Amino acid sequence: MPTRFHDRYHAPGVALTRIPLRKAAVLFIATVCLCLCALLYLQLEQSRRHDLSQAQVASSNLTRAMAQQAEDTFMKADLVLTSLVDWIQVDGFGPSLRPRLQKTFARRVQALDQLHGILLFDQKGQWVVTSFESLPRGPGVADREYFKFHQQNVSSVAHIGPAIRSRENGEWIIPVSKRVNDKNGQFEGVLLAGIKMSYFDQFFKSFSIDDNGSMFVALTDGTLLARRPFVESQIGTSLAQGEIFQTLLPQSPSGNAMFSSVVDGIVRLYGYRQLEAYPLVVSAASSRDSILAGWYDTAFRSCAVVALVVLVVGVFGWVFIRQVRVGERVEADLRQAQQALELIATHDSLTGLANRRLFERALDIEFGRGARQQSPLSLIMLDIDYFKRYNDTYGHVVGDHCLAEVARAVKGCCHRKADLAVRYGGEEFAVLLPDTDLHGAMTIAEQIRRSVMGKNISHTGSPTGYITVSLGCYSFIPTGRDSMDVFVQRADAALYQAKHSGRNRSAVLSMEGGVEALLRSDR
Ligand code: GH3
Ligand code: MG
Ligand code: MG
Repeated sequence: MPTRFHDRYHAPGVALTRIPLRKAAVLFIATVCLCLCALLYLQLEQSRRHDLSQAQVASSNLTRAMAQQAEDTFMKADLVLTSLVDWIQVDGFGPSLRPRLQKTFARRVQALDQLHGILLFDQKGQWVVTSFESLPRGPGVADREYFKFHQQNVSSVAHIGPAIRSRENGEWIIPVSKRVNDKNGQFEGVLLAGIKMSYFDQFFKSFSIDDNGSMFVALTDGTLLARRPFVESQIGTSLAQGEIFQTLLPQSPSGNAMFSSVVDGIVRLYGYRQLEAYPLVVSAASSRDSILAGWYDTAFRSCAVVALVVLVVGVFGWVFIRQVRVGERVEADLRQAQQALELIATHDSLTGLANRRLFERALDIEFGRGARQQSPLSLIMLDIDYFKRYNDTYGHVVGDHCLAEVARAVKGCCHRKADLAVRYGGEEFAVLLPDTDLHGAMTIAEQIRRSVMGKNISHTGSPTGYITVSLGCYSFIPTGRDSMDVFVQRADAALYQAKHSGRNRSAVLSMEGGVEALLRSDR
């Protein structure tokens, strides 16, 4: 059985150009999944930015409210102190005036919620008058920061000092103080208003911030005055090395920034604002996790939905690709079967040579080509000599072997790709030689004849003692209106002539229509 058939005369329209469907499907599914992921990313990134910018706006509003509250708180205390200092500096604070001063102090403290108390100290730091009923006992306040400040600074501006514990009742207070001068402008004492830290605490608590959030009021040098959450050990500590005081405040008196805390490593959005009237800074911070809590939730759900969709698309894609693969396999099998059928339909199973069907197809094609190109087309008809006797002598099975052997010899002499060796029928063969003239055909015919003889297939029934063949050649230039039958008949006539003149020879049919004499005889 031949493994290859003659492509030149292969039946048209059987080869399919296939789109690489599997690759296209993989690409399509990957693109869909990638697009989904990209869309999800863009949408989440946009909503994350939106949430952060909303938080920045909220943070700015909060710090503005804190700054306003701090300014109001300190300004009211400042105004109270200013009016009282003016009064004291004019009237003095002699023993006779003290009961009246005490009542005035107490009335002012009652009027302002934020005030812990108002206290007047003499130039040695001893209590002179306070808003409380009784004067505290003790070494005085000469060691306090605010007292030393006023002792050394002639300025009449209110001074806000670091938070301290009241020596009256131990409560945390923020001292706002003013220097009291005598008539000559010499230091005569200090008037102090203590602002309750709890006042800030309550104000801070009126805002809802997350568990990891924080709010504080500090002096511009970084000293912490009040903070939420309240941690006693932190009061009075310095924030000067923090990001706000180190980097942000030198750049702008208010703003927002997201950074990780050096204390606990939590990333927070910090809003801050420096007061204009007082040396104070307020700040509020919310943790990034709490700002983005809603976003995380949405992101998780969106990711879950997209992952599900990607999974479904992936599974469907996988099933589809599997189906495509099965389809491709079936198609490849069909194509193979079709090729096998084509081979069976166009070739002879015993010799592997082309059969009559392919011969006719080839003739049709070559008649057209020859006419177009005006090139000669030749045909050799070949018949084994005394083959009936061979069969009778050796049997049909050996006869078949002999036919296959002769076919091999014929095929071996077809050198050009276009040459077609055909089993024409029984023990007759044909060789179609496109673009070959009579001389060329004759040369091939003789080659075949010698090749068969060269095989030395013993044939006792033949006068030569071995298998020989007779060949008839015919050649012409197709016109486009030629008959296959006539073409074959003419080569057959030449063959008849070869037989008639003694076999084991080649004969040609002249172009004029007559039969030319034998060109060669190797008997
Ligand atoms: P000639 O020299 O005149 O050709 O004598 P011949 O005996 O060969 O006569 P012919 O060409 O008429 O003989 C054809 C014989 O070929 C008839 C048959 O026995 C044999 N034959 C035809 N086809 C086959 C085949 O497929 N196998 C075998 N073994 N023999 C076949
Ligand atoms: Mg015959
Ligand atoms: Mg014969």
